[in-house]
Amino acid sequence: MIRSIYDIYGASILIIVFITLFLIETKFQLRKRVQSRWKRIIINIIVSIPSFALLRFLFIPIMVWLAYENTSWHFGLNYLFEAPVWLKAAIAFILLDYSNYLWHIILHKMPLMWRFHLVHHTDLDLDITTAFRFHFGELIGSVFFRGAAVVLTGISPLMVLIYEIAFEAANQFQHSNLKLPFRFEKALNKMIVTPRMHGIHHSMKKRETDSNFSIIFSFWDRLHNTIKLNVIQDEIVTGVAVYPDEKELTSGNLLKMPFTKIREWEEANCVV
Ligand SMILES: [Zn+2]
Repeated sequence: MIRSIYDIYGASILIIVFITLFLIETKFQLRKRVQSRWKRIIINIIVSIPSFALLRFLFIPIMVWLAYENTSWHFGLNYLFEAPVWLKAAIAFILLDYSNYLWHIILHKMPLMWRFHLVHHTDLDLDITTAFRFHFGELIGSVFFRGAAVVLTGISPLMVLIYEIAFEAANQFQHSNLKLPFRFEKALNKMIVTPRMHGIHHSMKKRETDSNFSIIFSFWDRLHNTIKLNVIQDEIVTGVAVYPDEKELTSGNLLKMPFTKIREWEEANCVV
């Protein structure tokens, strides 16, 4: 199932999404770049290689295995009530997205997980390649929480794969440096996370980073009052305030970063 749904359909969709967004963000740029684009592409790809390998050969198989085993355990929400298959699938999809909103907050608030998620946030520009800049340690940590969510929702193995493909497409879209027509984006943002919304989350200002945690649907931030939209994009300085020096942010240093002494936000007088 992983081979047909994820490797063939999923990979084809995600490659098309990547090429399309890469070309459009080149032509219609939302935020000014502060670094060389090609240098960042290389850094982000190197950082992403171990994460990609773990995603495909550890994370996805475990999620699908848990959902598959759960069809005999009958554990989780979807096994507690009778409803049409499509309705159960939709509920599980939405709840899985909610669990990822909560997981994203944990990545920021739990010191151990922030060590890993920090690597993603240190990118001084935000574009589609930032969507790949995740430390492999973050992925390993997510197996436990996101695995529990798979079991608790009682989602089917097929829906696990469909959610994962949607998750990765949404991840590419929200990190892209794509300038959409403002009113179109505003309407779209009522439902899903858009580049302007997620750009605020990548700000060096702590109070802006502490907002907009949603992954696919934007309503989780509205529901929990963690949404922030009224920020002018040109005024956003992207990155983590205590890691502003691009010379430090090499692929080798980024892979080592979670295992070194982590700097606190306060050191940069950026507690606002
Ligand atoms: Zn984050």
